[in-house]
Amino acid sequence: MNLRLLPRELAALGYRLAQRPFGRPLTSPPLTSSTLDEDDVNLARRTLQRKEGWFDQSIVDRYEATFAKWNGSRHAVAFMSGRVALSGCIHALGLKPGDEVIVPGYTCVVVPNAFQFAGVRVVYSDIELDTYGLDASLLESRITDRTRAILLHHLYGLVCRDYDETVSIARRRQLQLIEDCTQSTGARYKRTRVGNLGDVAIYSSEQSKVFTTIQGGLAVTNDGRLAERLREFRDEAPYPDPHDVERQLQNVVLHFHIHKDPQRWWKEGLNRLLHEDALIVSTTREEERGVKPKNYGRRMPGAIAVIGLNQLAKLDDYNSQRLANSSRWTEWCNRSGYTPPLVIPDSTPVFLRYPALVEPERKADTSWARRDLGVSLGVWFVSPLHPSSRVVEGCPNGAQAVARCINFPTLGVGR
Ligand SMILES: *Cc1c(COP(=O)(O)O)cnc(C)c1O
Repeated sequence: MNLRLLPRELAALGYRLAQRPFGRPLTSPPLTSSTLDEDDVNLARRTLQRKEGWFDQSIVDRYEATFAKWNGSRHAVAFMSGRVALSGCIHALGLKPGDEVIVPGYTCVVVPNAFQFAGVRVVYSDIELDTYGLDASLLESRITDRTRAILLHHLYGLVCRDYDETVSIARRRQLQLIEDCTQSTGARYKRTRVGNLGDVAIYSSEQSKVFTTIQGGLAVTNDGRLAERLREFRDEAPYPDPHDVERQLQNVVLHFHIHKDPQRWWKEGLNRLLHEDALIVSTTREEERGVKPKNYGRRMPGAIAVIGLNQLAKLDDYNSQRLANSSRWTEWCNRSGYTPPLVIPDSTPVFLRYPALVEPERKADTSWARRDLGVSLGVWFVSPLHPSSRVVEGCPNGAQAVARCINFPTLGVGR
């Protein structure tokens, strides 16, 4: 038990109780682990009791096949995170030290890390501010004779503005295309889910994503030869230690009480107080500095795939709710004089979060949202290589988004 936390947690609880007479709810809608329910908690508890099945690969096979079918892809391969799935893709594509890859200058630090761990040189290209994806008109200027691949991303649950154009540039210049779908799992473009137009794509079930296993990820491809190479990478990767599997299952329970439980107005403080040290941190300080963690590169064990299967069964329903709830924030944008994010023609977004560009002061201090709208805001991204302080040159729109992009929760925000 961490006694240092006691005053802070008690103060937070006191603050919430004090707000109640003024008609404000005691909790705000979750930004993290928002798809965890009682059934996931029960499943995690049961799995904790049944250690003998933890490394049963047949459950992982089922998870991979179920995800592939759901996503409309031929092959899916599961790992302990989206970043490791990306490392699998780098292996599958045969990217070598000295090769170059073009990456948006507004991404998570674990993306450039995966390339750098393989010796691949990362060249940043600026984003547009309609969907925060790569600005295709700038791509040609970034291509050199060492460029082998482009990574495009779909952020906040949107389908990126220049999707078609980026795909066609990659084809024309014979570059391999990686799609980062970690924030837009399930979004559709022309009836297909994102991730099926490139050579390979990555997905994430990290705690803040569209669905969650606390940590987890998948790589997909429609190319049989690349699938073989992805499986080869998976089969050579170790499983996580039983201790880490146990901790992750315990985090499913903890996260439910902290972020989702209707009783979280008091359970959050108590669980943080008792278990703060057990909570899993997605990106460590060493990763922020570009150092490869000791336990990097793990495949997914059956114990985690069980949770993934349960989450997957609920995903379409949650994504429909997110989409329906997004209208609240579109109305807010229109009322407040902000431009709503662009939903490109023929696309169906999933709105993991609803992004908006506001004045830098409103991003620097977001207490207005709690006060006026009853929600806590997300502040992705706090830096161009979130959350690290590493610098990216020559991407002014990326810098704009860092200064001005806030995002709203989209579950638990019924009007
Ligand atoms: C979360 C995220 C990743 C990495 O996924 P993990 O499962 O956390 O490794 C990569 N790219 C983007 C844009 C992300 O938001």
